[in-house]
Amino acid sequence: ARAMQVIQTHEQRNVAEIVEFEAQEIVKAYGLPTPRTVLVRSSEEALVAAEEIGYPVVLKIASPDISHKSDVDGVKVNVRNANEVMRTFHEITSRAQRMRQDAYIAGCLVQEMAPPGVKEVIIGFKRDEQFGPMVMFGLGGIHVEIMKDISFRLAPLSRQDAFEIVREIKSYMLLKGIKGEQPVNFTALEDILLTMSQMALDLPQVWEAEFNPVLVNHERAMVADVRMTLQ
Ligand code: ADP
Ligand code: MG
Repeated sequence: ARAMQVIQTHEQRNVAEIVEFEAQEIVKAYGLPTPRTVLVRSSEEALVAAEEIGYPVVLKIASPDISHKSDVDGVKVNVRNANEVMRTFHEITSRAQRMRQDAYIAGCLVQEMAPPGVKEVIIGFKRDEQFGPMVMFGLGGIHVEIMKDISFRLAPLSRQDAFEIVREIKSYMLLKGIKGEQPVNFTALEDILLTMSQMALDLPQVWEAEFNPVLVNHERAMVADVRMTLQ
């Protein structure tokens, strides 16, 4: 129900994209694992949030008008102390406003930073005119963009489908672990895939959804960025 409210508000405002800080509500409503995240409106609030979450933290631009935050250099990882938090808040928000003069800047997200060694994967769905919602899985970063190393399944996914889709990509070995590394938590990824499939069925107004990245290691998986496009 909370997910529907967020979507309806966007539809009424005639906005086609739901960006990370807005989509977080939807992600939480589905009980997906996310890094701890607080929306802050000033550098003082950013400091309070960072101290609460614990260092290091990640700061991200929060604006309904900026969907690719890195385009405005709007993501800073490994922010390590009070001074850096205050300075980074000002840097990120003023740069975004300078680069996107018409954008409404809500503030920043202060987010728990994933531990070193996590791997990045992408989980999403898109609707095919002919077949309906297709759930997608791929390795993050250059692997998706250059290698096109992605696999698809028609929703709804069964547990078996989820099991298969994560093992189908060419870079599966990287997730299984090389040189004595531990395998990532595949069950945690499969759980997120099944939730993504459920969202595709529940939310027909959403044309496309993408968790990019999901950060995963041997212990857990966290949805660290979300973007949704409405019909
Ligand atoms: P964009 O809107 O540019 O896609 P993201 O939120 O995906 O912004 O952040 C960009 C990159 O920063 C991610 O692909 C990931 O490498 C890194 N990142 C984002 N959030 C975290 C986090 N909580 N912990 C560690 N790294 C992160
Ligand atoms: Mg992203």
